Amino acid sequence: TTVGALREVAAGERRVAITPEVAKKLAGHGVRVLLEHGAGVAAGFPDRAYAGAEFAPASQVLAQADLLACVLPPDEAALAQLREGATVVGQLRPHGAAARIVALGKRKLTAFALELLPRTTRAQAMDVLSSQAAVAGYRAMLIAAEACPKFFPMLTTAAGTIRPSRVLVIGAGVAGLQAIATARRLGAQTEGYDVRPETREQVQSLGARFLDLGVSAAGSGGYARELSAQERDAQQRALAEHLKTVDVIVTTAAVPGRPAPKILSAAMVEGMKPGALIVDLAAESGGNCELTRPGERVEHAGVVVLGPLNLPAGAPQHASEMYARNVYNFIEPMLKDGTLEPDFRDELVERTCVSRGGEPHFHS
Ligand code: NAD
Repeated sequence: TTVGALREVAAGERRVAITPEVAKKLAGHGVRVLLEHGAGVAAGFPDRAYAGAEFAPASQVLAQADLLACVLPPDEAALAQLREGATVVGQLRPHGAAARIVALGKRKLTAFALELLPRTTRAQAMDVLSSQAAVAGYRAMLIAAEACPKFFPMLTTAAGTIRPSRVLVIGAGVAGLQAIATARRLGAQTEGYDVRPETREQVQSLGARFLDLGVSAAGSGGYARELSAQERDAQQRALAEHLKTVDVIVTTAAVPGRPAPKILSAAMVEGMKPGALIVDLAAESGGNCELTRPGERVEHAGVVVLGPLNLPAGAPQHASEMYARNVYNFIEPMLKDGTLEPDFRDELVERTCVSRGGEPHFHS
């Protein structure tokens, strides 16, 4: 079996799906690892760091790989060059990628979208959403600290005392909790808010205050559900008042397969302190703030709104290390004496499969 990976082509993408550590582990299973020249360079892994892997131009990797590991979905041109019957594993953006699934069909490809892993204990070691969300949360808070016109920590100096910044993190999932932890390490007065009641304890365990707005919306599978119009109004009313005291907001709220919930309206932003800052980590899926423009900086009534994209690519070395381990943990059980044999009776295999030998695969 040949496992391949390309140099990622998306703008600004610096991660790689196979790291030297994982290449070595795969080789230990009798797998041939074939990478595009320079596949890991942008993540801090030059070709020479990959002991035992082979390097070739992209066209050869695509022609020879039985399994292509990717960070972001390969473009249609790349899919068309894959050998018939090959397997693709990675973040395939399964929600709303119909064209790409059709492209998979033409080459009789089998594809596993790792975003679809259920959030069970066994899946945790393969959970790319979690590993990359942790990177995104960390990066978002560093971007916030950098762009904030204030210090995060309290300072006692000869020039007087500087009060710590007040930071609010909206959405306390994996990214939000990491953002909270990062704000705390930088010394900010930190609060966290979420609609899932179990997050109260998680926020508090990081030494932050839990902001209770009296709206509870736990969904299934550990995720939140969408709020009703009434709940959303109640949330916004309670939040608007509170925002008047906040210096920095990092928003991370998401509901799987849905556009990001709009939590911050323009009017709420207008009520914030001049110089306040919003970093909207949900920019990619439409944003949690009405004013967010993906990839841009917006200034509105003295408040700055940033919508950074692909935050995990901003810490590509550690992001790739975690991502590649996730990929390895997913494919390792499929390797039987060096050949690839996915077991479709396995829930994790079945749930992530979006195309099986070119047939679109649907889940109950
Ligand atoms: P996510 O990216 O889907 O959402 C981010 C956060 O936004 C969530 O905490 C969600 O509750 C919150 N949110 C949604 N709508 C909101 C609203 N209107 N207002 C405020 N907050 C809102 O979530 P995630 O970080 O990927 O995961 C959520 C949780 O799933 C984790 O915190 C964890 O408890 C659980 N999880 C379990 C496993 C596992 O067991 N394998 C793996 C990962 C996550």
